[in-house]
Formats: sequence, structure tokens, C-alpha cells
Amino acid sequence: MRIAIFGDIHANLEALEAVLEDARAQGTTDYVCMGDIVGYNADPAACLEIVKEMNCPVIKGNHDEDASGEHSLESMNPVAAAALEWTRAQLSEEQRQWLRRLRMVRQVADFTIVHATLDQPANWNYVTNRFDAMSNFSYQFTQLCFHGHTHVPRVYVKSDKVHEVPAESIAIEPNSKYFINVGSVGQPRDGDWRACYAIYDIDHNLVVFRRVEYDIKKTQEKILAAGLPEMLAERLADGR
Ligand code: ZN
Repeated sequence: MRIAIFGDIHANLEALEAVLEDARAQGTTDYVCMGDIVGYNADPAACLEIVKEMNCPVIKGNHDEDASGEHSLESMNPVAAAALEWTRAQLSEEQRQWLRRLRMVRQVADFTIVHATLDQPANWNYVTNRFDAMSNFSYQFTQLCFHGHTHVPRVYVKSDKVHEVPAESIAIEPNSKYFINVGSVGQPRDGDWRACYAIYDIDHNLVVFRRVEYDIKKTQEKILAAGLPEMLAERLADGR
């Protein structure tokens, strides 16, 4: 069984379609979505409908929560807040309700999924180093846990201690635990503009990261046409 694990789509339809096409070509049969389907880019409703139709396990991201709530966005950075205001107006009540009902943590097959961290999923903490990863491992009861949120693909391994290994091709060893950030489909921030996701090959104990080119010009044009902050179009090309 080969499972495509993808998230932080952020309303980037061209990137989502490219990733799903790549995943099919790679022989994946199952899909898991790590949340943040909406926010930032110009196609929140279309991306939501695609993921909803896939009927796969999905967990809630902070942008899904903010876009489906009615609370004030004042404390948020102005660019993200402007995009979320716009996103709220694009979604139907039914779509917002679907987002609101997503769960924070799920177990799928033999692994766990969470958008941010397992220790306090609703606090949306960022895992940027092995010390952050350590707090997560205390709450991780499956060998593998996949997450997202930082938009940077990373792999933390806990054997006798916690260390980081390059996010490329990971052979899962029996006596270690893995906390794996699958990167971002729609707004990567590791300096590579291409859409990022991972494939978990359960039969071969292997996790492989994939980078996929998409029609970024089209995505940028839609962002500008929607009147969203220009910076959101620019950052896509920089992968930041
Ligand atoms: Zn995100």
C-alpha cells in the first residue's frame, strides 16, 4: 500500500492538481490530508471540494479553523488576516461547517496525523528544532506521526536520542520513532517553489518526499486578480 500524504494546500489549485496527478502516477492508492486546505491563495472552495470528494482522512489546520470561525483576526499578521477575511467570504456555510467538523488528531492505519504537534494540537506550535520535536515524541504512541504547519519538510527520529535526518528517502527502522513534516503543497517555505508531499510505502517501510512543478504563473495571476496581497504571489516563486 502506497499512501500520498499531503497538506498545507492553502487554496493553491494548480499545485494540488499537480500533486494528485503525480501521486497517481507514482501508484498511490490511498490519500491522507494534513489540513490547511484554505488560506493565502485564490482557490479555497475548489480545493476544499476536491479534498472533500476524495473522502480520505483529513485533519484540521489553523487556517481551516480561522476560515471557518467568526472570531476576530486582529491578533494575526495583516497579510494572513486579509487573506482569511477574503477566504471566509468565498466559502459557503456548508463548506465552513465541513471545515469546523474536522478533527485535530487521527490515527490512520499504523500512524498518527496532526497538523502541528501532538502535545498541544490546538495551540498550533511550530516544530523547528529537535527540542520542539522531543515534546511531541512524549505524546506519540505510534511509530510514525506525520504533521505539517511549518511548510518545511523535515524528519525527526527518536532512537536513544532525538536527531534530524534529511527529508529525502527515509527507511523506517524497527526501533525508532519518526515525526515527519511532509512540507507544503501550496506554499513551500524551504526555498524550493515546487509543491511538496510525501509517499508512505507501508509494505517497504519507506517514506519518500516528492517535489512537483506546477503552473505557478496561473496561481499568481489568480491571486492578483482576486485582490489578495501581492506579497502572497511573490512569495510562491521564492518558496518562502
Ligand atoms: Zn499552513
